[in-house]
Amino acid sequence: MSIAVEFRAVSRHFGPASAPVRAVDAVDLTIAEGAFFAMLGPSGSGKTTCLRLISGFESPTAGEICIFGENVSNTPPHLRNVNTVFQDYALFPHMNVRDNVAYGLMVKGMPRSQRYAKAEEMLALVHLDAYGSRKPAQLSGGQRQRVALARALVNEPRVLLLDEPLGALDLKLREAMQDELKSLQQRLGITFVFVTHDQHEALSMADSLAVFNEGKIAQIGTPAEIYNHPKSRFVADFVGSSNVLPPALTKQLGGPEKWASLRPESLRLDATGPLRGTVTAIRYLGAGHRITLTTHGTDIAAILPAGHPLPETGSTIALGFDATALHIMDQA
Ligand code: ATP
Repeated sequence: MSIAVEFRAVSRHFGPASAPVRAVDAVDLTIAEGAFFAMLGPSGSGKTTCLRLISGFESPTAGEICIFGENVSNTPPHLRNVNTVFQDYALFPHMNVRDNVAYGLMVKGMPRSQRYAKAEEMLALVHLDAYGSRKPAQLSGGQRQRVALARALVNEPRVLLLDEPLGALDLKLREAMQDELKSLQQRLGITFVFVTHDQHEALSMADSLAVFNEGKIAQIGTPAEIYNHPKSRFVADFVGSSNVLPPALTKQLGGPEKWASLRPESLRLDATGPLRGTVTAIRYLGAGHRITLTTHGTDIAAILPAGHPLPETGSTIALGFDATALHIMDQA
C-alpha cells in the first residue's frame, strides 16, 4: 500500500528563535493511503498545525512533507489535491447549497451544467439531494456539516482533512455523523485525516491514530494498541480512563518497580485480590457502576457490570485482576 502523507522531521515554530513556540516539533509520521487516521491530543498540542501543514496553509520551519511521494513542502494549497472540512463549516451564507458545493468547480472553470450535475451527485452521497436550493441558514447543524463534506468531496481530493468536524454537534447527531463519516470513507476509499480531542471519537473511528503532546507524537498505532498498550503515563491518562499506578504500587502488586496502567474494566471484586482499600465513590453509568477505591494514597477505578452486587461507600474491599491486565509502561 502506498503512503498518502509523510512527515520527515517536520517542525513548525512560531515567534522569535530565542524563545520559539514549538507548535510542531521534529515530527515523523506516515499515513497509509485509504486510512482513516486520527490526530488526538489536548488543546494546544499541535494537531491543527499538523493539519495545516498538510493542507499547505502553514509552511514547515524545518523538515519535509510528502503527499503521495511528492515533496510538497513549498507547494501552494490549491496544487496539493487535498481538501479541508472545518469545524465551523465555512459555508458561504449568501449562496444556496448547490452553489456552495459547486463552488470549487466554478473556480476551476467547469461549465455550469456540468458542475451542477457533479454537485447533485455529491449531495446525493451525503443524503441531501432535496436541499440544493436552500440557504445554509435554513439547515440544521448536521445538514450544514454534510454540505461542507460534499463541498470538499466534489473536488475529488486524494486526502480529506477534517478539523474537529463534529465539534459543534450535539451528542446524538455526533454519533450519527460518526457512523456516516466512517461508512462514507470506506465507500470512497479516500484517505481521511481527522483532528479531534475526543478520545472515544478517535478510538471508535480511526484505523490508526497519533496521540500528540506538546508538539510531538507521544504514540502512534491502532486504537487497540494505544488503548491496551499505552507507552507512557501521558497516553494512558489521556486515552480513556485508565488507572495509572505509581512504581511502588506496581511493585506491591507483583510487578517491576515501574509506572503501570490497569483498565477499570479489568478489575473485579475478589476477597483475596491484592488491591485492598476503602470505597470512596460509586457512580451509576447506566450499563454498570464505576467504583473508586483508595489504596496507599492512589485512587483506583473499577467498572462493575450491571447486576453485580455493590459494596457500600466507606467499606473496605479487595479487587483482583488477571496478571495480563497489568500493563507496564516504558516511560514515565
Ligand atoms: P486545539 O485542540 O485547541 O485546536 P491544537 O492541538 O490543534 O489545539 P494548535 O492549534 O496546533 O493546537 O497549536 C499548537 C501551539 O501552537 C499552541 O500553543 C498555539 O498557541 C501555537 N500556535 C498556533 N498557531 C500559532 C500562530 N499563528 N502564532 C503563534 N503561535 C501559534
